[in-house]
Amino acid sequence: MILELTAEQKAFQQQVEQFAREIVAQRAAGIDKSGEFPADVMHAAAGQGLLGVTISKAWGGLGKDYVSYALAIEAIARASATVAVSLSVTNSLVAEVIAHAGRDAQRERWLRPLARGEAIGAFALSEPDAGTDAANQQTKAVKSSGGYRVTGKKVWVANAEDAAVVIVFARTRPGLRGQGITAFLVPMDTAGIMRTARADSLGVRGLGCMDLELDLTVGDDQVLGHVDQGFELGMWALQGGRVAIAAQALGIGQAALDEALAYARQREQFGQPIANYQAIQWMLADMATELAAARMLMLKAAAAKDTQEKSTVEASMAKLAASEAAHKAADKAMQILASAGYRRGSVVERLFRDVRATEIYQGTSEAQRMIIAASVLANV
Ligand SMILES: Cc1cc2nc3c(=O)[nH]c(=O)nc-3n(C[C@H](O)[C@H](O)[C@H](O)COP(=O)(O)OP(=O)(O)OC[C@H]3O[C@@H](n4cnc5c(N)ncnc54)[C@H](O)[C@@H]3O)c2cc1C
Repeated sequence: MILELTAEQKAFQQQVEQFAREIVAQRAAGIDKSGEFPADVMHAAAGQGLLGVTISKAWGGLGKDYVSYALAIEAIARASATVAVSLSVTNSLVAEVIAHAGRDAQRERWLRPLARGEAIGAFALSEPDAGTDAANQQTKAVKSSGGYRVTGKKVWVANAEDAAVVIVFARTRPGLRGQGITAFLVPMDTAGIMRTARADSLGVRGLGCMDLELDLTVGDDQVLGHVDQGFELGMWALQGGRVAIAAQALGIGQAALDEALAYARQREQFGQPIANYQAIQWMLADMATELAAARMLMLKAAAAKDTQEKSTVEASMAKLAASEAAHKAADKAMQILASAGYRRGSVVERLFRDVRATEIYQGTSEAQRMIIAASVLANV
């Protein structure tokens, strides 16, 4: 068993770490404070090829493997959780899905600009009554001549503020839950999309989340993949998406450990650095160990995405372990910095808020446990 990164993966990781340090980290506090979508940073990330990391060079991407992509998301998240998740939506939930299931005309129209970083994408699955129960889609797509009329409401659509295209899931056959849903590629400037800005969110602020009220017509040529098989396609997308969220969580957790280490070395109480106290050392040790363990699961899930047809369980385990390890790391960092972390505007305060979303989006921790439990029970 080889557990080492290749020279190419390491070189790419270092390149993205440098970009994250020099460009992304400088904007992280400002993005969080204003809550504004960081179009400038996304533009800079596009210049590094970070909107189409795994997309083949033939379609304008970098043609990297999933491990490299996950390392890139982790490196970006260490600087800004918001930028990392925004990039992961375009990569995993939009570009990769079009590469996987799109027709050549759809790839020409959307994949190439996405992978080149000329456009960003959004993914509209969640609805007011379809969160964890995502198969309970109430948005309808009713067949008309040459296409469909799509009506309904989508909530929490990340990137919606700036996206050029959104994948919309809608019910094409009533009463069939997951079997009667179709995915459509919809330009965001289509007449009949009403966007409403989401209220301020606790963390990952600046993600451009909006709710979408839909009453529009789409052509048959906008069906992505096969009619009635959109739910499967959405779940396919989440295998990659969850690896990316695991990587995002690890980046946030690593940043919390970085902050805690730096503070513990320089903060003195009772005449010596608090890093000398075993109580602090044990917190640092637990943070480092839990993050390292979760990183192994994340890399395993990323490698499985490259080599296995299906990697649902690996992705769920990685997301569950990484998001919970990162949550604990942010909590311990807050304890180590104490009042210096609790201050509004401290880095740890931002990490503490940002990390929480990783246990919620792309399936809550309970949803990941349901997937894992079903798999282990089936294997007994
Ligand atoms: C910042 C942010 C960005 C997002 N971006 C997107 C996006 O781009 N596109 C998109 O489509 N969606 C997006 N979402 C929505 C996200 O995917 C959902 O919030 C998530 O799937 C959970 O759904 P819910 O919030 O409706 O919670 P619910 O499904 O209402 O769950 C409430 C609670 O009940 C638990 N629960 C539900 N069912 C069960 C069960 N059977 N067993 C045990 N526990 C259960 C849940 O785990 C949770 O604890 C985003 C959300 C956030 C916060």
